[in-house]
Amino acid sequence: MSVMVWIEQNNNGPVGNSFEVLGKAKELAAALGTQTVAVLVGGDTANVEQVRSYGADVVMTVTSPSLASYRLSAYVKALRKAVEAAGATVILMAATVRGREVAAMLGSELEAGYAPDAIDLRVEGGKLVAVRSVYSNNILADVTFNSPVQVVSVRPRSFPMPEPGAASGEVKAVDAGLSEGDIKEQVIEVKSTDTGEVSLTDASIIVSGGRGVQQDPAKGFELVAQLANVLGAAVGASRAAVDAGYIPYKHQVGQTGKTVKPDLYIAAGISGAIQHLAGMGGSKIIVAINKDAEAPIFEKANYGIVGDLYQVLPALTAEFKKRLGK
Ligand SMILES: Cc1cc2nc3c(=O)[nH]c(=O)nc-3n(C[C@H](O)[C@H](O)[C@H](O)COP(=O)(O)OP(=O)(O)OC[C@H]3O[C@@H](n4cnc5c(N)ncnc54)[C@H](O)[C@@H]3O)c2cc1C
Repeated sequence: MSVMVWIEQNNNGPVGNSFEVLGKAKELAAALGTQTVAVLVGGDTANVEQVRSYGADVVMTVTSPSLASYRLSAYVKALRKAVEAAGATVILMAATVRGREVAAMLGSELEAGYAPDAIDLRVEGGKLVAVRSVYSNNILADVTFNSPVQVVSVRPRSFPMPEPGAASGEVKAVDAGLSEGDIKEQVIEVKSTDTGEVSLTDASIIVSGGRGVQQDPAKGFELVAQLANVLGAAVGASRAAVDAGYIPYKHQVGQTGKTVKPDLYIAAGISGAIQHLAGMGGSKIIVAINKDAEAPIFEKANYGIVGDLYQVLPALTAEFKKRLGK
């Protein structure tokens, strides 16, 4: 028995959200009287010392040239090896785009109970309980498991980022036992869309624009970006804005986009459809800017500004610039 966390990696190294999950995993493992195992899957072990500084009892590495680029079937096979080697019964990972698909496939292959996109975890009566948000946080559902193995993906920013300390934890290498013939996908080319922007799922502040920019979409999203820039925030969008081609899909927040949980979410020209709220309803503070005082977003917002975003956004940017000395 052990609590295992997959430490996802991208071009910039381990994904911070994985360490949020690892911090919580240590609490759960202590309550279950077991160990925490962090697993690194990839082409090499370059980031193992960084992972050791987050205090897992064991850091497992599963490396192979076949794992140098992310491929779902290969990563799931590698993780299965790690699960078997560690005798893991609780398997956790961040509910990133990759984490969601890896957790679902791994859960299915292990015939494990699977709770996607949990926002909290606890141990009750010696058993894991995952808390899931339903109807944009209007209902919190406790999920318990009948299966011996349990897989949970955890919504980014559900737990605080732990501070790294002195490297500890035994390093164990697990043989991936992979051959190219077992892997369904082939990577032909990798084109990075990483432009150095603040990532939506990591952001503590998000400024989003919606169809309300339609009068001049380029100008509207420029105003959104200017405010985001002053606040060190990420830029988000509604699906209507994405579908209209005002901004690329990677910025979409909502049911069919990203789920975010910033400290501050500023929604400009967004009506507040349930599918948008599903992605940002867990934000700590929501500020809505909308020229229609009856827009549903105001029911969810902590602060509402009834006005034209083309006037309100530049006014906010100018004021924040002054106050933040920028
Ligand atoms: C299966 C499914 C999945 C979906 N997934 C998502 C999803 O992931 N994310 C998502 O966002 N939506 C999603 N949608 C779409 C969703 O239902 C809404 O259509 C969408 O969120 C509306 O986007 P919006 O608020 O930008 O546009 P609208 O609803 O058109 O709202 C625009 C708002 O801007 C205001 N406005 C107009 N001009 C100005 C101005 N100058 N200044 C200030 N305010 C102004 C208007 O008063 C209005 O409230 C999904 C729908 C379905 C069916």
